[in-house]
Amino acid sequence: MSVDAPMAVCDHVRMEPSLIDPFRRQIQYVRLSVTDRCDLRCSYCLPQGFRDFEDPEHWLTFDEIERVMQAFTELGVQRVRITGGEPLSRGRLPELVSRLARLPGLHDLSLSTNATRLRRQAAALKAAGITRLNVSLDSLNPERFAEITGGGSLDDVLDGLAAAREAGFTPIKINMVVMKGSNDDEISAMVRYCIEHDFTLRFIETMPMGDTGRAASGQYLDLKEVRHQLEREFTLLPATMQGGGPARYVQVAGTALRIGFITPISQHFCDTCNRVRVAVDGTLFTCLGQNDQTALRPLLRSGVSLETLKETIRAAIARKPERHHFVTEPGKVIRFMSYTGG
Ligand code: SAM
Repeated sequence: MSVDAPMAVCDHVRMEPSLIDPFRRQIQYVRLSVTDRCDLRCSYCLPQGFRDFEDPEHWLTFDEIERVMQAFTELGVQRVRITGGEPLSRGRLPELVSRLARLPGLHDLSLSTNATRLRRQAAALKAAGITRLNVSLDSLNPERFAEITGGGSLDDVLDGLAAAREAGFTPIKINMVVMKGSNDDEISAMVRYCIEHDFTLRFIETMPMGDTGRAASGQYLDLKEVRHQLEREFTLLPATMQGGGPARYVQVAGTALRIGFITPISQHFCDTCNRVRVAVDGTLFTCLGQNDQTALRPLLRSGVSLETLKETIRAAIARKPERHHFVTEPGKVIRFMSYTGG
């Protein structure tokens, strides 16, 4: 099927064909990395001492980001998640947020953060137009948190979460990468913490992204085991959650807590994949677990027209791989998650 053919489902604002890939998946969601840098060194993500970051001259400027996102939204993308690296380490982030929030057709502008700098920025980000917030938090034990994150301060993160609540963010989702022999004894504690603070909780399986992700695969835990563990302690009811992501949700009976299970390894969700990723240097990745990529930066810097940019994006989507091969080819993706945009 040609992706350029007029589609039955059209964007109501501009009546352009939607982005449909060869496997009939409609692409509505972009993960936008605004930096590959991070103040933490999570054991499964970035190596200790890593310095080989993208040259700032290669970062897309705010004008370039806005142009790429204009192209995507005109092609029917309705949801954008700002990520990284640690997005709060990109200067003037609220300014970028307010520019993106004004794009017609964009209904959902969310942010993933480690929350270490959220205390200072939560209110400004909310005012600028961030609608939803995901915060990574793998341990509630200060020493273990520091160990997993390569020296991070749990207090800063908890204070950042408090600031997010004060700023009025709701829902706030906590993302916990569950690792055998590391933090799998904290599953119940994390559930209770999220009940107490009215957060949504998502458990994530480790993926073999880069050397660090591959090393962490030794600590891989099938989330079915986590679910079974929870079922011994709590009554779990079927639930849904707005957000467009791959998590499968349950609700803890007698509480407002919803728990999502993100299982890229044990039960992949590629058949419903609705997303692509744009790295800080403008590289478009159509699959997290494959190396297919399209360099948008050279086009942007050569003064490409919006139409040509859209054609380039359509052509990339027409080559979107069917699925990742994390299980059969764990050595395939050498780039780190922080570069691709988690
Ligand atoms: N710094 C932000 C944060 O902490 O949420 C955004 C970027 S971070 C790379 C996005 C998410 O990717 C985090 O929830 C992190 O735990 C997850 N992540 C990174 N490497 C991973 C891996 N190898 N397997 C599974 N999840 C990973």
